[in-house]
Parts: sequence; structure tokens; C-alpha cells
Amino acid sequence: MRLVLLGPPGAGKGTQAKLLVEHYGIPQLSTGDMLREAVAAETPVGLKAKAVMSTGNLVSDEIVNAIVSDRIDKPDCANGFILDGFPRTLQQADALAAMLEEKGIGLDCVVELAVNDDQLVERVSGRFTCASCGEGYHDVFKKPKVADTCDRCGGHEFKRRADDNAETMRNRLQAYYKETSPLIGYYYAKGLLKRVDGMGEIGVVHEAVRAILDSE
Ligand code: ADP
Ligand code: AMP
Repeated sequence: MRLVLLGPPGAGKGTQAKLLVEHYGIPQLSTGDMLREAVAAETPVGLKAKAVMSTGNLVSDEIVNAIVSDRIDKPDCANGFILDGFPRTLQQADALAAMLEEKGIGLDCVVELAVNDDQLVERVSGRFTCASCGEGYHDVFKKPKVADTCDRCGGHEFKRRADDNAETMRNRLQAYYKETSPLIGYYYAKGLLKRVDGMGEIGVVHEAVRAILDSE
């Protein structure tokens, strides 16, 4: 299954992607995670991306397309993948279509997670992750079961993203509405778009996504 999770920052794409990875056994391809790894490793791509990401603007299509193209060639993507945070512009969507066409494959489904802006700001403001395994949490909506202990790996160190602040979030939302939201029409026209109400609890949203994917 080749799937795109589409939605604004904080909509729950990463959260849902991780649940789908567990269920379907295909990898999550998060361009945000890949770029953050490049920034941490101070690679040439990371050095270019760092300043742009800290403002909440989009990294260039050229850089992101190249990262995704390399990633989907890896053997673990042979049976499918879940794209999280890519494509984010019409140019990226065209580039993705061309990459897949070259391999003789295509997308099966694009799931749009719809969440209102107030809730997005609340979700992003309370987001943190386990520093060891990357499991995602939220101060209010998804606390670790045992305080300061990761449910998944037992780790005790957590981190917060530098770009998860109110000012950067305003830019990220603007970038979403200007550059990314046109993809809703783009994929609708291709007959691939499925809209899910992302306002419900994590498990409820997961069930709704699964119902769509299992009926494909
Ligand atoms: P995205 O990948 O779309 O930016 P995340 O999956 O990282 O979003 O979710 C953003 C924050 O909101 C995280 O802290 C996550 O735990 C929380 N979250 C995700 N889905 C929900 C939900 N359905 N209800 C409440 N909080 C959620
Ligand atoms: P995310 O983790 O998806 O919230 O992405 C964090 C940041 O990484 C974004 O604000 C952008 O600066 C950058 N980024 C991630 N994915 C893309 C993409 N597909 N195109 C351009 N920039 C991206």
C-alpha cells in the first residue's frame, strides 16, 4: 500500500503513521524527521535546511524531492510506504507522480486529516517525543502512562521541537494554506482523496483511517 497522509502541522499525521506502521508493516517516510536528522548530523542538506525550518517556511522542492526519491528506492519500501509531510507543494506532488511512474507504480490513497486551527496550535504547543525511540506524546492528550517514562521503550529522556512555538506555528500554518492545501483539489481530481475528521481521539481517528484503507 502506498499512502500519503495530508494535513496541516499538528493534525496527527505522525501519530497516525506510527499506528499504521504497526498494523500494516510498511515504513513511515516523514520528510520532517529526515530533515531533522540531516540538521542534527550537519550534512550539506541539513546545513541548508536548518535556517528555513527554524522559521517555519518550506525547504526547497529540489532538496526534499531528492531525499524522498532516494528513500523510496530502499528495499523496505518495496511493499509500500506511508508518506508523512510530503508532498507539500504542487511541484512536489508532480515530482512524486513522476518518481512513481518511472518505477511503474502509483499511489493507492491520500488521506486528509482535517483539524481546526485552534486545535492545531494546542496540539503543537503540547507535543514532545521520546529522545530514544521517537514515540510521540502530548502534555494533555497523550501523556506517558507512567510519568517521565516512555510507554514504548522505557526511556526517561524527552525532547521538544524548536519550531513548535506560537510564532513559527503561524508561519507553518500560512505555508500549509498557501502551498499545501491546493493538494486537496489536486488529489481529489485524481480520485485518490479521502477526508477523515481528525478532531476525534487518536484511537477513533485511527479506526476511521483503517476503515478507509481496508475498503480500498
Ligand atoms: P503532525 O505529524 O501532523 O505534525 P503529530 O502526529 O505529531 O502531528 O501530532 C501533534 C500532537 O498532537 C502530538 O503531541 C500528538 O500526541 C497529538 N495528537 C495527535 N493526534 C491527536 C488527536 N487525535 N487528538 C489529540 N491529540 C493528538
Ligand atoms: P514537519 O515535521 O512535517 O512538521 O516538518 C517540519 C519542517 O520541515 C517544516 O516546517 C519544513 O520547514 C520542513 N519540511 C518537512 N517536509 C517538507 C516538505 N515536504 N517540503 C518542504 N519542507 C518540508
